[in-house]
Amino acid sequence: MILAGLVFWLVWDFYPDWVHHIRRRAVIQHGPEGGSPLAALTFDDGPDPRYTPRVLQVLAQAGARATFFLVAGKAQQNPELVKAIAAAGHEVGSHGMDHRHAWLEWPWSVDRRIGRAAAILRRLSGQPVHYLRPPWGMFNAGTYPAGMRHHRGVVLWSCSAGDWNIRRQARDIAATLEAGLKPGAILVLHDSGGDPGAPEHTLAALPAVLEAARRRGLKLVTVSELVGQRRQST
Ligand SMILES: [Zn+2]
Repeated sequence: MILAGLVFWLVWDFYPDWVHHIRRRAVIQHGPEGGSPLAALTFDDGPDPRYTPRVLQVLAQAGARATFFLVAGKAQQNPELVKAIAAAGHEVGSHGMDHRHAWLEWPWSVDRRIGRAAAILRRLSGQPVHYLRPPWGMFNAGTYPAGMRHHRGVVLWSCSAGDWNIRRQARDIAATLEAGLKPGAILVLHDSGGDPGAPEHTLAALPAVLEAARRRGLKLVTVSELVGQRRQST
């Protein structure tokens, strides 16, 4: 019995072709490249009382909307931040219950916990929670079905600046994001988590990224708005 469980776990959690097949076919990594020039900024791992309010302030000054993939356990500890995110017109997505790596969980446990996180985030935000971004973008066999069952699907990104790493300076983060800032882009940033203090570099990089979007005529919208455009245009 234990051996059967171990084999199941190895095959379904570690078989890379299966994971990559799902990623290529089903997971949203960018929006449409034609049509209106739109791109999506996303922030993972919050809400965080030290950084999320400052991110909200910078976004408000630029008139930009974003999507916050929240950790439901942190959202429960900071319900006022979830409300502030939603009240400012941003989208709330799910980053799971507590940022556990999918490879350390059974597929059915992933489904149960993703369902629980979705319910918590819906209640706290007062919004539908359309999309799931699994922690580290990692999957096991339960992740994608759970993303479809409890959400509209799974969203990853087209450009990551690695801003969770404290060694990445603000200018490096801004340069990577500006290079990835194209119509349809989904950029991932972090307003919490990662190395201690790392979101300071993210915050320092953010004005340059917002200015680059403005210069290029790119409107920054939520993931639902970006993906909704694709639905309307096909
Ligand atoms: Zn994360």
